[in-house]
Amino acid sequence: MKLYNTLTRRIEDFTPQDPKRVKIYTCGPTVYSHAHIGNFTAYVYWDLLIRTIRLNGWQEDRVLNITDVGHLTSDGDEGEDKLEKGARREGKTVWQVAEYYMDDFLENFTALGVIAPTKIARATDYIEADIYLINNLTERGYTYETSDGIYYDTSKFPTYADFAHLDLEHLKAGARVEFNPEKHSPSDFALWKWVREGEDHAMQWEYLGRMGYPGWHIECSSIIHETLGEPIDIHTGGVDHIPVHHTNEIAQSEAAFDVLLSRFWLHNNFITIDGRKISKSLGNVYNFDDLQKKGFTHLDYRMWVLQGHYRSERNFSFEELSAAHQRLMNYRNFAALRHQKPATNTDEIQTQITEALNNNLSSAEALATLDKNLDHVMPSEKFIEYLDDAFGLQLAASTPDITSEQKELISNRAHAKASKDYQASDQIRDQLEKQGIAILDTPTGTIWQLA
Ligand code: AMP
Ligand code: ZN
Repeated sequence: MKLYNTLTRRIEDFTPQDPKRVKIYTCGPTVYSHAHIGNFTAYVYWDLLIRTIRLNGWQEDRVLNITDVGHLTSDGDEGEDKLEKGARREGKTVWQVAEYYMDDFLENFTALGVIAPTKIARATDYIEADIYLINNLTERGYTYETSDGIYYDTSKFPTYADFAHLDLEHLKAGARVEFNPEKHSPSDFALWKWVREGEDHAMQWEYLGRMGYPGWHIECSSIIHETLGEPIDIHTGGVDHIPVHHTNEIAQSEAAFDVLLSRFWLHNNFITIDGRKISKSLGNVYNFDDLQKKGFTHLDYRMWVLQGHYRSERNFSFEELSAAHQRLMNYRNFAALRHQKPATNTDEIQTQITEALNNNLSSAEALATLDKNLDHVMPSEKFIEYLDDAFGLQLAASTPDITSEQKELISNRAHAKASKDYQASDQIRDQLEKQGIAILDTPTGTIWQLA
């Protein structure tokens, strides 16, 4: 399997450290509001990664985190905790807000056909691990305290700029005026923040005799340390995480534990909608309810995501989603043929699809390979299972065989047609159509499809 590794900026051959199991971590959502469809592209891409890992005969130990504390509204360690803000907006407790949006996220996650991670880790369950990590960093001289928290001193980590190819001098020169003057450098970041007097912050824990809460970046380092153990094989996230969040994760873990955090780093690019950035002011922050209102399912969207590449910036439009829906219908009708015709050999196609996926998850090429063969190949049950394993489009489940009564109706229709009783044959066709079955007369005989 070849993957583009952000760490080396190269396509590399991937094999796991353990010959059987791949240790993989995905930065998950901050659960303070409804996620939009753009937020979910990542989980479909990384699901494709898991499926490709499995096609190679490996199993995965996969952790996804849920950020339910500490993610501030600004990346500069200023602003409000997103969860606290959500709670105020909705007149609920932070815990209720976290619970509600976590369930909402996971419902969409499942409906998209994403394989459940081995473990889902909530940030608030790892506070002790955060404190252990910060203590480690302090003992090693990587931290300093300010009036509002404990900060990571990035000047003590000489390779800090390497991962994101940061220009730290430039960063300093361009630092915003309001940047916290107690920070030694703009790239330093909060590991722990104190609750200020009079500050309404419901989530708080005692550390060093004061109440406070973790910074955003620490949870991923702690969770990885507690669950998978460094070095992991693959770490995934959005491209926006490269210069700050992932750079900081690396600085924390590698300084605290003297190990490489991850061997491979994969980053997905952003989508735009109708050529524009997804934003509230443009009114294009679609979620899955909006898609459903227009008649589209989660699996239509999954197909749309698979039509592109995780590293490409992509543009979403409802025309493209319609095309993806049509393609999914074609695949379902192809899958339905396994109940109707003798299967032909599909080994070569299967090999080509696996090769495309092994080539840095080129799902668009893999789908194109299938398209080229749709009209002259007959699938077996096993081939459809393979396609479902590879793409997660649930073709088998959406195309169960028709009932014996329906089969009888089809054969009655053939008899009626043969004896030129077109009224009877049309009536049977209508009857089947009402049951969701379309009859199609082809040069090689009559077949049924999904109406
Ligand atoms: P946000 O809630 O906007 O911070 O988004 C959470 C994560 O979703 C970000 O860190 C991004 O990696 C991802 N994300 C946000 N917007 C998009 C987008 N338009 N396309 C793809 N991913 C996105
Ligand atoms: Zn993370």
